[in-house]
Amino acid sequence: MSATLFTDVRIIDGLSPAAYRGDVLVEGERIAAIARAPHTLPRGTAEVIDGAGRTLMPGLTEAHAHLSFTGCRDLHEFTRIPVEEHLLLTIENAKLLLDQGFTSCFSAASAKPRLDVVVRNAINAGRFPGPRLRAATQEITPSGNLGDLDTVEMSLPPQVRFAVTCDSPDAFRAYCRIAAREGVDTFKINVSGDRGFYDWGAGSDATVITDEELAAVVQVARSRGKKVAAHATSAGSVKMCVRHGVDVVYHAALADTEALDMLESARDRVFVAPTIGFPFTLTHEAGEYGVHHDAATKAHLEAELNSIIRVCTDMRKRGIRVLPGGDYGLFCNPQGTNARDLAHFVDLLGFTPMEAIQAATRHGGALMGQPNDLGQVKEGYLADLLLVDGDPLDDIAILQDAGRLQGIMKGGRFHKRPAARAALRIAAE
Ligand SMILES: [Zn+2]
Repeated sequence: MSATLFTDVRIIDGLSPAAYRGDVLVEGERIAAIARAPHTLPRGTAEVIDGAGRTLMPGLTEAHAHLSFTGCRDLHEFTRIPVEEHLLLTIENAKLLLDQGFTSCFSAASAKPRLDVVVRNAINAGRFPGPRLRAATQEITPSGNLGDLDTVEMSLPPQVRFAVTCDSPDAFRAYCRIAAREGVDTFKINVSGDRGFYDWGAGSDATVITDEELAAVVQVARSRGKKVAAHATSAGSVKMCVRHGVDVVYHAALADTEALDMLESARDRVFVAPTIGFPFTLTHEAGEYGVHHDAATKAHLEAELNSIIRVCTDMRKRGIRVLPGGDYGLFCNPQGTNARDLAHFVDLLGFTPMEAIQAATRHGGALMGQPNDLGQVKEGYLADLLLVDGDPLDDIAILQDAGRLQGIMKGGRFHKRPAARAALRIAAE
């Protein structure tokens, strides 16, 4: 069995309130032992990585991943990427996320039906590098809502469409069963409208599916062992999600007090990912991508961003599990900059750097369905680890710098091996 010993590292374990110095031994794919300084671990036959005081922490989880989103400015463009090219782009994004320290990704929709599933399977088979991936369906939405583009697009063959439209409980049920057959882990349902769809009566404040439709989705998920993740910006949609037992609530931007009370009452089972990244860049940085908002749009975007900030600050105080993950892969929010979400949590939402890291690691492991296996530096846990040059508790932004991620380990194997000067192979005794 392969073994790696990290000596003299500053451990952020994902649970403890402070970092501590020590050694960490990895055997096979798991963490075998941890010793707090001044105690040390025997070197034995392990490969020794001299941490020299650098930080060792769990790999990050992206809670709202879209590995098949390729920076398209408008959703129509996704349908125009041929499936073959789209698969390659998705594989590249998977590697990019792992290069940036994300050892787990919980997908919030695939841009074509099987991209997530195929990429997950290839990663698991060791054919390409990438994070652990919970594969999602496309966006499943009622007609005339986010994802349903227009008549022309929806006449395209199903295998190149961006979304799936369903307009009855039976239709939702049937599609979820097909998706289960295809091997997804998560059904992604658009329960509310979105900022771009006010003209259709499906703005962010609209709740666009029925209780019966959502109940059908959850019923199939429960019977097939799948998770349900919901696009839910309106207050009504958040409440509907809690009532029906949806696992992951995305956005929650317009949650009112009643919705927040309901989320709090379900905080041991529900996860919220506000996806602060995209609304932030859309509001403040779209101009760098040639998109200039008129005054009315700008005011609208600022109001929604402020609402997200207000709601998330409240959720943090209520002990609701709020996770980083922010629609990276949309046009002004590039894939690979995902760790910026942790900085947004600190700068905008009032999280301490430690709270932001724990949200992205310990809560991330729970989101991935492996709360006792993933997301902490703890004996017996899977060795998904980052060796970081510097202290992310002092400056959370360093996690965005791949150059600072000097070691990236997934399941006990280095995806990125620390430079040779720090790695000393010790001959077997
Ligand atoms: Zn999304």
